[in-house]
Amino acid sequence: MNLLAVGSVALDSVKTPFGEVSEVLGGSATYFATAASYFTRVGIVAVVGADFPKEHVTFLKTRPIDLEGLAVTDGRTFRWRGEYGYQLNEARTLETQLNVFQQFNPQLPPDYRTAELVFLANIDPDLQLEVLKQTRSPELVALDTMNFWIDGKREALLKVLGKVNIVIVNDGEARQLVQEVNLVKVGREILKLGPKILIIKRGEYGALLFTRDAIFSAPAYPLETVFDPTGAGDSFAGGFMGHLARTKDFGMSNLRQAVILGSVMASYCVEAFSLERFRTLHSEEILGRYREFKRMTHFEEL
Ligand code: AMP
Repeated sequence: MNLLAVGSVALDSVKTPFGEVSEVLGGSATYFATAASYFTRVGIVAVVGADFPKEHVTFLKTRPIDLEGLAVTDGRTFRWRGEYGYQLNEARTLETQLNVFQQFNPQLPPDYRTAELVFLANIDPDLQLEVLKQTRSPELVALDTMNFWIDGKREALLKVLGKVNIVIVNDGEARQLVQEVNLVKVGREILKLGPKILIIKRGEYGALLFTRDAIFSAPAYPLETVFDPTGAGDSFAGGFMGHLARTKDFGMSNLRQAVILGSVMASYCVEAFSLERFRTLHSEEILGRYREFKRMTHFEEL
């Protein structure tokens, strides 16, 4: 196993200005693994309840996603309910039901323990730590989180932040994490917490990659149809980590390519509710949009 992710597998109820869906497939690990699966095989560590519809498992099995680490226990699946206004950048969480995640005690299958890349998707930081403990010195560990955990589990989150190489968060969460407004200062402060690389996702404004001595700024793909931003961040992370897992090159120029592939995957995610767009997405389309990105952002030396 090349790439491993711990995170939520969820039933989401989402309202946007363009429509509404109830109890559809969602979750940070689900979006991440589906996007990453276009680049490499990926294993999921998560839990669902007995109520989790079989059709969702069937869909995940159509992708190169390993589900040995997906536990099924008695009880209800994690549920998240949120809505977006016309300003689609920030979700308003209306309800979070942790359900089976409250007692989840992850046990990594032997094959997962030797994963070279690990993604700690948005989930309880104590679970992120537990999964990390069971791995054998992965080459690269990245983490995502959200306001729910920054507020509710700050200490555990700071502990896990000290053990990862890359942090991938959105702008609001990055500001909240270090209580600073200016994003360049935010970047510097977060890098002091341990990670060597920080990516700040800025929704329709693109993404910024910070290292101690460089900044790379990528735009978002200018889309005409944005339906539902849910999962965009995780799909970004899936494209980013999937490319790194496939190429095993963590140099700056490959990191820049990974940021663009992350942006490509996020742009496809938001075109439809839930994971619908990924049901029809082909690798050639990913390559096509990557090239459009290159054309769109290229400019000549003076
Ligand atoms: P994103 O839009 O990429 O930030 O992630 C959206 C996904 O995160 C949704 O599918 C939710 O099911 C999931 N999610 C929301 N809140 C939480 C939480 N507190 N812990 C884990 N996953 C969550």
